[in-house]
Amino acid sequence: MRWILVGASTIAAEHMIGAFRGQGHAVVHVVSTTAARAAEFAATHGIAGSGDDLTAALAAGDAVYISSTNEKHRAQALAAIAAGKHVLCEKPLAMSVAEAREMVEAADAAGVVFATNHHLRCSGSHRKVRELIEGGRIGRVLSLRIFHAVHLPPHLQGWRITDPGAGGGVIPDITVHNADVARFLLGEDPQEVVAQMAASGLGQGVEDSAMSIWSMPSGAMVFSHESFTHPFAGSGLEVHGTEGSIFARGVMTQRPLGEIELVSAAGREAIPFSEHNLYSMGVAEFASAVEGKGRPAADGWDGVASLTVAFAVREAARTGVKQAVKIGG
Ligand code: NDP
Repeated sequence: MRWILVGASTIAAEHMIGAFRGQGHAVVHVVSTTAARAAEFAATHGIAGSGDDLTAALAAGDAVYISSTNEKHRAQALAAIAAGKHVLCEKPLAMSVAEAREMVEAADAAGVVFATNHHLRCSGSHRKVRELIEGGRIGRVLSLRIFHAVHLPPHLQGWRITDPGAGGGVIPDITVHNADVARFLLGEDPQEVVAQMAASGLGQGVEDSAMSIWSMPSGAMVFSHESFTHPFAGSGLEVHGTEGSIFARGVMTQRPLGEIELVSAAGREAIPFSEHNLYSMGVAEFASAVEGKGRPAADGWDGVASLTVAFAVREAARTGVKQAVKIGG
């Protein structure tokens, strides 16, 4: 497969170029808003083509990976879809749920594969936790707690903490991931949310911390904590059921790290899991979907759903009023 990168971004440089090449795919072109930056990025990463003209670039490849700032995703995705290209788009898909739906509906109408780069559901740890839940190892799920309060590294302290117009703020950045994790692990969509948010040291005009509680149709409760300002909090998730609890520590990460422990009446059990690269797995499943085998790890509608939850959290925090989550509505 031949990939066109849209966005000369950190995530492309640090994770995705390696993931594409690791699957035997070619990265043929990079598009930036400035031709000089695209050329510099291309030279650094050994990419043959570069430029600032997306439309002209589209003929060079089969699939497009969009990792620009969030306000650009919609127009870039629509252009790629109109050219008949498959699209792997970064989260959050867009600046509004309506825009995200428009993108995914366009892809469906064009018959191209559209995926959302929700990497966490590709990790061995998250897949193992889901397997334990589905296998009945903890009985009926009562609650899920997600700990995703991190410290934003200095090189990422740009638009995320200063620019609402680019989609900044911890809710579009991290709550979307937590929403996808909850949906993936529990197999159901949040239906109501209450929330609070704060600027706790980094956010300038956007929230950098949030806590929210979601109710699920099964009756399970979900607690989601995300932040850019917590250097030593660590990450993880816990799933508590009637017959046991799962503690997955250090697993809300970009790399295959962490540990899982199952606690039940039988005692404590360390649970091994696959340590494959998360992004490589996402690319492999995307490529299979393009070949007509299965679906991407997270498709476009998963991206719409996670965005719907995140924006409901932000609205609940803004108003102080419980919000219904209308996925598909
Ligand atoms: P970056 O800030 O690194 O890149 C975003 C855009 O900013 C680039 O496309 C580029 O624009 C511009 N830019 C980046 N660096 C420079 C620079 N030194 N000088 C000038 N412009 C620059 O963002 P991220 O890589 O952190 O995030 C990009 C997208 O990926 C976002 O949507 C984010 O939410 C998502 N993301 C997803 C992750 C995941 O695990 N799924 C992890 C991290 C991010 P241009 O291309 O026009 O030059």
